Amino acid sequence: MEPLVHYAIPVLFMLALNPDADRKKVLRYSPLTLLPDLDFFLGHALLHSVFMPIGISSLVYQYSRKDRTAWMLSMFFLYSHIILDLGWVAILYPLGNFILSLQVNIYTSPKALSNIIKAMTGGGPGEGLEIINSDSKPVLYPLEAMGKSEISPLLTQVGLMLALLYLMTLLYRRFSRGVEGSGIGT
Ligand SMILES: [Zn+2]
Repeated sequence: MEPLVHYAIPVLFMLALNPDADRKKVLRYSPLTLLPDLDFFLGHALLHSVFMPIGISSLVYQYSRKDRTAWMLSMFFLYSHIILDLGWVAILYPLGNFILSLQVNIYTSPKALSNIIKAMTGGGPGEGLEIINSDSKPVLYPLEAMGKSEISPLLTQVGLMLALLYLMTLLYRRFSRGVEGSGIGT
């Protein structure tokens, strides 16, 4: 995942779904969402391990004079990075010297859907379900494969979509002013 996605998704989730969250602290610790990608310069393994957030969050806890919120935000932001990298991550490094590549893609079609409805309503045997495709699988690669990827994404399709949604939100904010208060649309 590229930096924009690594940053935007967990920070927006935290702010949107935890209205009581301390916004200042969320923003102060939000750069931790990007920290593991220092691995790009270090060989891309150590900071992406599931063990890494525990160590770094303990440091944050000590340096923040034992601030529990700081510790929890650190854990959240660091683990969010690993979750978003599940497509290609040395998750158990250094205990497990392999890269996990988790792909989850499930497809459907109108015909498959109507067959499912038929089967559920007792209207047919539900044949044709196989046209729902899935190429979901976890694949393990040797750690050496990491060295072969000398490039890292800067902007991908997901990032572009998020940027467009962000622009639309700004437009909404710009043009909804005065509308919501006037009773229009209520
Ligand atoms: Zn990463």
